Amino acid sequence: MHRVSLLVDTMADHATSGAPFPASRDGLHPLLSARALTKVYSTGVATEVRALNGVDIDLFEREFVVLLGPSGSGKSTLLNILGGLDNPSSGTLQFRDTDLTEADDRTLTQYRRETVGFIFQFFNLIPSLTARENVELITDIATDPMAPEDALALVGLADRMDHFPSELSGGEQQRVAIARAIAKRPEVLLCDEPTGALDVRTGTLVLEAIERVNRELGALVVIITHNAVIADIADRVISLSDGRVARVHRNAARRPVNELSW
Ligand code: ADP
Repeated sequence: MHRVSLLVDTMADHATSGAPFPASRDGLHPLLSARALTKVYSTGVATEVRALNGVDIDLFEREFVVLLGPSGSGKSTLLNILGGLDNPSSGTLQFRDTDLTEADDRTLTQYRRETVGFIFQFFNLIPSLTARENVELITDIATDPMAPEDALALVGLADRMDHFPSELSGGEQQRVAIARAIAKRPEVLLCDEPTGALDVRTGTLVLEAIERVNRELGALVVIITHNAVIADIADRVISLSDGRVARVHRNAARRPVNELSW
């Protein structure tokens, strides 16, 4: 056991040092591999912001990863690139065997539509549609979706399906947003501060729903948070600083969400 975890740690370190793409780890394959990713924003005639400054990471099937780092360290920029919502300035991003940085628009659209679920801090539900109808917006265009009712049941909202967003608490609205993101059975679930606007109790329910998606659907989950306590529920914690990976830490065991308090 100890030898396995040593090996894993070595490989995790390796993945932050410009190493070649690894074949597998613990029998699991990398879903996303980023190498030397940079993102440079021009903000004026002579000013540039290096939001990402050479990021190398491998994210594996079924992993639960927390991205930590101070404000401005590049977390959202990285998540948006991982989700195909933004392009890097240089470097490569590979999803399985596909180089997304070389992909045409059709492939990228398909990647966003079929593979990736996004959850943001603010729930972005359509107020005039019920919970079920908000989820149907996605299931109507997905290739092999689950029933909206099943997605809502998975996040504990079986008895709230016909409520409008204004009739739901903040935590319930965020769980509708999770149901919407997972109904297409995404292989990758990307969450940008999903509990940032919630109190502890509702934040915990939301994290439990995300953890369940990871466990029961096997999605790779990446969660951005400012809250270091949340890091305990992850398999791995990747810390960013000034657009670089500053540290990769593997938790010996994942802490159950219901043991968290912040
Ligand atoms: P984090 O999510 O860690 O707070 P971001 O990825 O949002 O960090 O931002 C990283 C840096 O890039 C910050 O300095 C931010 O101001 C800058 N930045 C992000 N988006 C843009 C943009 N569209 N134009 C210019 N600068 C940006």
